[in-house]
Amino acid sequence: MQGQMMHRPLRIADILTFAEDSHKTSEVISRTVEGDLNRITYPDMAARARQMAKALIALDISLGDRVATLAWNGYRHLELYYAISGIGAVCHTINPRLSPEQMLYIIGHAEDRLLFLDLTFVPLVEKLAPQLPKTLRFVVMTARAHMPDSPLDLLCYEDLLTAQDPHYAWPEFPEDTASGLCYTSGTTGHPKGALYSHRSTVLHTMLCAISLRDCLQPGRKILPVVPLFHVNAWGLPYAAPLTGASLVMPGPRLDGASLWDLMNDEQVFSAWGVPTVWLGLLAEIKQRGAKPVGFGEVIIGGSAAPRSMIDAFERMDVSVCHAWGMTEMSPVGTVGHLPPSMDDHPLEQRVDVKAKQGRRCFGVDLKIVDEAGAALPHDGQASGELYVRGNSIVSGYFANPEATAQALDPDGWFGTGDVASIDADGFLTITDRAKDLIKSGGEWISSLDVENMAMSHPGIANCAVIAVPHPKWDERPLMVAVAAEDIPPKKSDILSHLAQYLAKWQLPDDIVFVDTLPLTATGKVSKLTLRQEYADHALPA
Ligand code: AMP
Repeated sequence: MQGQMMHRPLRIADILTFAEDSHKTSEVISRTVEGDLNRITYPDMAARARQMAKALIALDISLGDRVATLAWNGYRHLELYYAISGIGAVCHTINPRLSPEQMLYIIGHAEDRLLFLDLTFVPLVEKLAPQLPKTLRFVVMTARAHMPDSPLDLLCYEDLLTAQDPHYAWPEFPEDTASGLCYTSGTTGHPKGALYSHRSTVLHTMLCAISLRDCLQPGRKILPVVPLFHVNAWGLPYAAPLTGASLVMPGPRLDGASLWDLMNDEQVFSAWGVPTVWLGLLAEIKQRGAKPVGFGEVIIGGSAAPRSMIDAFERMDVSVCHAWGMTEMSPVGTVGHLPPSMDDHPLEQRVDVKAKQGRRCFGVDLKIVDEAGAALPHDGQASGELYVRGNSIVSGYFANPEATAQALDPDGWFGTGDVASIDADGFLTITDRAKDLIKSGGEWISSLDVENMAMSHPGIANCAVIAVPHPKWDERPLMVAVAAEDIPPKKSDILSHLAQYLAKWQLPDDIVFVDTLPLTATGKVSKLTLRQEYADHALPA
């Protein structure tokens, strides 16, 4: 027998309409690229999003079209999240830290029709322009007074917006309609696109609102250091308006001093980001002898939060919530709140548990499996590859049948490429990574890509690129290579060779020459052995 309840399609625009009705005084406060501090309430933002939606339609954007953004965290970027998806188009957030080659690839692969960019990125786009599709149009996210002189035909965001009135009824379409597109690095080859839908996004937003309810509350101020161009800023663009939390957007200035000042001025309660940015903030707190006023919580994810970092925050009464997830999961999968039974436990014990990656959110199922794919017990001992299942997890990759075919196991679970254990209380511990990727400051470097490019250098016979722990960037790449001739090539030669294909931060920090590389039983290079061997390798400063 079927239930007799209405079935309304889940729509992203309804989140903003809800904020407009219910959270009238909550704000989005943005440090802009132009240098000022902008304040806008959710009702004002909702009106502007409707104006921008009409502007997009006037530019001939319609259902299913991909519209790209190349921008920092700020209110205009947030407006675009709603305006683009609200008309049924797809908001494709581009990571500006990608190499020009990768950026060109994803713009072409996504078949973007419009590119919205912050002023900061005009020189970059001017450089890329000759290789970009001729049909791509550009909109600079600024007001007329700041429009730059450029050989490109640039449209002005505020001109487009103010040409429209805010009277617009968001259209209805099926809830599985695509809403957002975010590319993530593959272990080899090109980046792969996670294509979110209205349904997955709204369900993920509710998942975040329940799981992170300490900070997602009306009147609480949250600072996303995690960028809007990186996995939907961990769901905050939706979860904050839904719950009435205010957002404090840092723009491009993410150093410790700038963050400290902004957080102090605005009395930010909760700040979200990868471990690397918190090192800068902790150093600033130490130097000033005080934490920013009102700072009570930090959400750390993207890479493992070091125990010492958790300890430092907890000792200054900033509660740490360690979260784990990935682009393919929208991204939140687990969050690290402690059960009430641990309230009276000593700090040491609490920090031990907080150093784990947290427990699953409602709507995310976890399993760990052995090499044969058999499920392992959740006993805190067994460790295996982590698989996930849920409504906010990808079922494949955008226009990529090859990667899609490999994404799920025969039972429909998505393989994360992380190796983990899960204890009897449900706490996840990421113990290793099965995927050949290195995460530096929250951004990916594909070891296989670097290896392939290095192998095209005549002086290299074989090589492996591995992650070496780094105090600031979490991990940095080290290349272990076998030279093709008795005298190895100069390191600087290899680095200049790699620089033709890679962004500067993706280049190995060091190259070590060896006679042979260790092999596994199946004859592959044993990266595990190399990682153990070079765990303490001193990288050049
Ligand atoms: P991304 O798709 O760029 O967000 O990266 C997701 C990947 O980052 C995961 O599969 C993990 O390898 C890693 N990751 C994310 N959060 C954590 C965490 N808290 N601890 C350890 N690794 C993490």
